[in-house]
Amino acid sequence: MFANPYESLKHKNEEWLRANFHTHAGTGPNTCGANEIDDVISAYKDAKYDVLTISNHDIYTDVSEYQEKYDMILINGYEYSNHPHMLCIGNKTAVEGAHKFAVNECLKEGGFVILCHPNWQRKEYWPWKDLLAMKGYTGIEIFNGVIFRLNGSGLATDTWDFLLSQGKLVWGFGSDDFHRWHDLARSWNMIYAEKKHESVRKSIDAGSFYVSTGLILHEFAFKNGTIRMSATSKDNYVKENKYLFIGKDGKILKEVTGEFGEYKLEGNELYVRAQVISEHGAMLWTQPVYDESKFKRP
Ligand SMILES: [Zn+2]
Ligand SMILES: [Zn+2]
Repeated sequence: MFANPYESLKHKNEEWLRANFHTHAGTGPNTCGANEIDDVISAYKDAKYDVLTISNHDIYTDVSEYQEKYDMILINGYEYSNHPHMLCIGNKTAVEGAHKFAVNECLKEGGFVILCHPNWQRKEYWPWKDLLAMKGYTGIEIFNGVIFRLNGSGLATDTWDFLLSQGKLVWGFGSDDFHRWHDLARSWNMIYAEKKHESVRKSIDAGSFYVSTGLILHEFAFKNGTIRMSATSKDNYVKENKYLFIGKDGKILKEVTGEFGEYKLEGNELYVRAQVISEHGAMLWTQPVYDESKFKRP
């Protein structure tokens, strides 16, 4: 049986919420988070975001005092910054100690974990063998905007395909890793949920979100063994995009340019994920449709 993380698109009380979980702010001049928290939240609100976490290096930020002021879902968290880095989101404290300890504490406190920039500085900043052994994380950053002006690669779909190919149910996330104003809105998550903390969390756990650098998911259906999807650029008269359907080991199963993308499953795929590219290079990545019997959460 194949599972479709976008099954919940039928829920009419839910909507697409724009989210960034990786934001440095409020830590003072010449630091990663040089801009004031209030100014950064305000800028994200202005850019039409609905969900935001301020996630500083080893400093837990409680954003509840801003909750009244902004009609957004503000979630507390921090970036665990012993190498390799991880985002602990929706938890209650920043902890010191080994990765395993930090993940367990985060989960105990009701949070979730996203592994950061897997290809920062070099391929396998996050060693693949460690990812296989590690437990408790929800996903990895498949796109981290700030890495493209640092070093290494901000893209990590290679790591994602590796994990998925090993039967690890790991969701792909997009992050700004906001440090300076020019980092704002490079990539984001669109979460299908009600505008409430619990609902956002539920949709993240279920994988009911996609990653974008500029494309909007217009339709995603998985019916009678066929995935049909389309994406649009905002109010663009150009309707054609390139649709890639990708399976085990990152193999391209189908590539099509048109107003929509369609892929009929053979039935022996481990997973199929879609990747869309617009005429101007904006991207969209969906979570995979996957064979339930062959996947486990890490
Ligand atoms: Zn980092
Ligand atoms: Zn960071």
